[in-house]
Amino acid sequence: MPLFETLIVGGLQTNCYILKADDSDECVVIDPGGEPQRVIDAVSSAGLELTRILCTHGHPDHTGGVSLLHDELGGSFYLASSDIKYSAQPPGWLLAALGGYQQPPQPDASLNSAASVQLGSEKIVFIRTPGHTPGSTCFLFEGMVFTGDTLFKDSIGRYDLPGGDGKQELESIRDRLLVLPDEILVYPGHGPSSTIGDERRSNPFLTEIV
Ligand SMILES: [Zn+2]
Repeated sequence: MPLFETLIVGGLQTNCYILKADDSDECVVIDPGGEPQRVIDAVSSAGLELTRILCTHGHPDHTGGVSLLHDELGGSFYLASSDIKYSAQPPGWLLAALGGYQQPPQPDASLNSAASVQLGSEKIVFIRTPGHTPGSTCFLFEGMVFTGDTLFKDSIGRYDLPGGDGKQELESIRDRLLVLPDEILVYPGHGPSSTIGDERRSNPFLTEIV
């Protein structure tokens, strides 16, 4: 299975996804937002080789577990350079809610510098979707799109946080996500999965743009 495991981590219940190559033991982790030891255990116990850590954006609930995971298992850490500042030490109340947050290291590579990365013989394609944050990026892989806090089942990401832009977020969803085929599975940064077709038809936040 290309989607090997989903772990719900940290106080804000972030979906951390482990993708595995079809033809090797290579894996990629998306959004290790907290509880890094659980992610390390899941990867290690399955005998997988972590090659990359991808973050959809810089918010602490998506980056808080990168540091330990990166130290323990390696893997190149990718984050949009424009989002580095949003992963800095969060305010106290948020820190308490997150539990176990660690400041992520400097990225090994910026998501801006490539269009895709390899996982086994397949590509994980980067789709730039600014709006929730300036560097928000979705990842397309084998019929699935990992949407971070840009698109949720029946909702969209908030755009009132620093760097957020609601108009840009809706344009990103319309021009870069809803153009994907209906059957593509949507795996958001929080909450249940969906499909592009279901979101186009019934997401109440998208009625003005579809
Ligand atoms: Zn966010």
